[in-house]
Amino acid sequence: MPERGETESRRLLGRLREVMAEDAAGQARLDRITQLIAEELHCDVCSIYLFRNADTLELCATMGLNPEAVHQTRMRLGEGLVGRVARKGQIINTHDAPGTRGFRYMPETGEEAYASFLGVPIQRLGEMLGVLVIQSKDARTFSEDETYAVEVVAMVLAEMTELGAFVGEGAALSARHQQPVLFNATIGQEGTAKGHVWLHEPRVVVTNPIADDPARELERLKEAVETLRVGVDRMLSTAANGDKEQLEVLETYRMFANSKGWMRRMEEDINLGLSAEAAVEKEQSTARARLGQVTDAYLRERLHDLDDLSNRLLRILTGQGEETGAEMPADPILIARNIGPAELLDYGRRLKGIVLEEGSVGSHAAIVARALAIPLVIQAARITNEALNGDLILVDGDQGVVHLRPDDTITNAFRDKMAMQAQAQERYASIREKPAETRCGRRIALHMNAGLMADLPSLGSSGAEGVGLFRTELQFLIRSKMPQRGELSELYARVMDAAGDKRVVFRTLDIGSDKVLPYMKAVDEPNPAMGWRAVRVALDKPGVMRMQLQALLRAAKGRPLSVMFPFIAQMEEFSMARAEMDKALARERILGHPLPEDLKVGAMLETPSLAFAPDKFYRDVDFLSIGGNDLKQFFFAADRENELVRRRYDTLNVSFLSFIERIVERCARTATPLSFCGEDAGRPVEAACIAAIGLRTLSMRPASIGPVKSILRRSNLDELRKVIHDSRHRGDQSVRPAVMQYLKEKL
Ligand code: PEP
Ligand code: MG
Repeated sequence: MPERGETESRRLLGRLREVMAEDAAGQARLDRITQLIAEELHCDVCSIYLFRNADTLELCATMGLNPEAVHQTRMRLGEGLVGRVARKGQIINTHDAPGTRGFRYMPETGEEAYASFLGVPIQRLGEMLGVLVIQSKDARTFSEDETYAVEVVAMVLAEMTELGAFVGEGAALSARHQQPVLFNATIGQEGTAKGHVWLHEPRVVVTNPIADDPARELERLKEAVETLRVGVDRMLSTAANGDKEQLEVLETYRMFANSKGWMRRMEEDINLGLSAEAAVEKEQSTARARLGQVTDAYLRERLHDLDDLSNRLLRILTGQGEETGAEMPADPILIARNIGPAELLDYGRRLKGIVLEEGSVGSHAAIVARALAIPLVIQAARITNEALNGDLILVDGDQGVVHLRPDDTITNAFRDKMAMQAQAQERYASIREKPAETRCGRRIALHMNAGLMADLPSLGSSGAEGVGLFRTELQFLIRSKMPQRGELSELYARVMDAAGDKRVVFRTLDIGSDKVLPYMKAVDEPNPAMGWRAVRVALDKPGVMRMQLQALLRAAKGRPLSVMFPFIAQMEEFSMARAEMDKALARERILGHPLPEDLKVGAMLETPSLAFAPDKFYRDVDFLSIGGNDLKQFFFAADRENELVRRRYDTLNVSFLSFIERIVERCARTATPLSFCGEDAGRPVEAACIAAIGLRTLSMRPASIGPVKSILRRSNLDELRKVIHDSRHRGDQSVRPAVMQYLKEKL
C-alpha cells in the first residue's frame, strides 16, 4: 500500500459523501461504503461491525469477506480482535492477526487468509457504536497515515450512524437507543420517580461532517477559536477578583484554548476533509475515550475542562446555544454528567428525579437534591450517552437503580411500588396531627432537618414539631460569592417567621471535608473528613462565624434563638465558640439591638471523644445533638462517602448502640437535653431502637417523619429495649435480627 497524502484522503471523504447522498437503502449504502474504503485504501477487506445490543457486535457489511457472513457473524464485546477494539476503545494494528492475542477464527468469513488487521473504534463522544476494520493478505503493519485516514472515516461513519443514515438492518445505533437499559448505580437520595428524560446539556448536533473546502473550514475554526479565546479572557477578567481556584480553572481553559497541539490536530482533521465541527468533535471523542482510562482525579478534571471547552466551541460553530427548542416534559427527570448546586436550585422542585453520571453522596448537588427531597441516583455510568430527550425513565432512589426506556413488565412493577408508597403516604397523612406517642406512653419529639427556605413548607405538611437541624452551609454553598450579613440575617428571619412558634436549631457553618465553598481557597488535605473543617475553621478564622452569629442574633429580633456548633471534639472548642457568641451578644447590646429572649447554645456530638468529655462540658452546653452520620463514621473508622465501606457497619451494631446509650446516660445525669439528627433518625427501625435506648428527640428529613411516627406509635419501647438488651447479652454482633423478628411478630 503506498503512503497516503492529504489529497487522497480528501478524495476518499469526498466519495464517501457522494455515497451518503445517493438514494440507496441502508444496507446497500453500507455495502457501497465498505467497497469504496477498500478501493480507496487499496486493501483486500473492509468491514463494518456495529453493536446489535449492549454487548454483541454484528458484521453489518463487508467488502472482501464472505458476503454470506453478513448479519450472521456476531461476537460478544471483548471477543476476538474486533470485540477487543470495541471493549477497549483502542486501535489494534497488527501484521499477524492470527498470532495476536484474542484472535478468534470465524470459518464463515474466510478470515484466516488475511494476515494484516487494522481495527478502529467507531465512536462518537465516547460512545462506542462499532468497529471499522481493514485487512490485507500481505503481512504488514498499517502506517500512521493510513491509520489516521481510517480513524477519520470511522469518525464520519459515527456521525452518520448517529444521524440515522443507516436505517434498515444495519441500524445498530438507532436500535440501541430504543432498547431498555438498566443502570445499577448509587443512591443519592431515596424516593422513586417516573418521568421523561430532560438532558441538562443537550448534545450539539453536527449535520455536516464532511466539507469540500478546507480553506473555508480552517477559517471557520480559526474564527470560532478566536471567539472562544475572547470569551475565556473575558471570564478571566471578570473573575480577576475572584478566588484562586476559579482562576486556576479559567487559566486551564485559556491554556487549552491556546494549545497549539489541540489546534494542530483539528487543522489536520480539516485538511483531510472533515468540517470544522467534525474536527472539534473528533478531538473531543479522543479526549473522552482517554477520560475513561484516567484514574487520576486531577487529570480527569482537566480532561473535563477540555470537554467543556469543546462543547463551547461546537456551540459557537453550529450556532446552537443551550436552547435547542426542545420542550421540557411535564414530568422531567434531569440527566446530567454533573450539576452545580445553583443550577439545580434553578430547576427547583419542577424536577421529578435526577440521575447523574458522576456525583458523590456528599456533593453539593446531592445536598441540594436531598434538601428538595428529589430522588437522586448518582454514578450512573454512560447515562448521558444512552438517554435521549423525552425517553421514559424510572428512577429508584431507594435501590440506586435507573430503568431507561423500560419494558411494560418493569413499568407495571414500578407503578405498583409507587402506588404502595402513595398509599403509605396517605396513612402517614392521617396521623400527621397526632403525637409520636408509643404504646408504652412515651412521647418522642420528631423534628425535621432543613437547609433552604424551600424546606420550610414541609414543617406543616410533615407534622414536624420544629427544625432540629438547620444546615446553614447550604446558603453558602449555592452562591458564587460569600453572602453578606444583611442577606443572611434576612433569610434567617424569614426561616423563623415561617416556623412561627416552632423551634429552629441553627447550626453554624459546617464547611470543609466534603463541603468546599466555591469561593474559598480549597486546602489540599490528605484526609479532609478528619481535617480542617466546621468549628475548627471557624475558630481559626473567626470572621465568617462572627458575621453569621451577628446575622442570627439580628434575625431573631428578640425572639427565642437556638444555635449549635458543629463538630465539637473537645470542651475548649465549645467554650471558645460560646465566647464568640457572648462577644456578639455584647456587641448587639451596645448597638441597642434587641437580644433573644431565650438563647440556647448547643453543640453537635459528632466525634467519639465528646462522649468522654468532662461533666463540666455537659453542664456548660444548653443542649447536645448527636450527628449520627459523622459520629458513626468516626466510631467505625469507615468513611461515610466511600461506597466500599459506608454500608459495612450496622447502626444497630451492639457496640454503637451501647456507645449511644452511654451518651444518653451522661446527659440524663447532667440534665442535658439530647437529640439525634443523623440520617438514622429517619430510618424507622433504627429510629425505634434509638428511642428505645432513651433518645426522646429525633430530627430527620421531612419525608421520614410519617414512617417514623407510624412505627413509634405501634411500638412498646420497654419491650424493644428488652429485646435489645437480651440480644446484647446473647453476644449478638448486631441487634437487628432480634429486633426485626420482634417487630415482625408485634407490629
Ligand atoms: C451528622 O453528621 O450526622 C449531621 C447531621 O451533620 P452532616 O450530615 O451535615 O454532617
Ligand atoms: Mg456532621
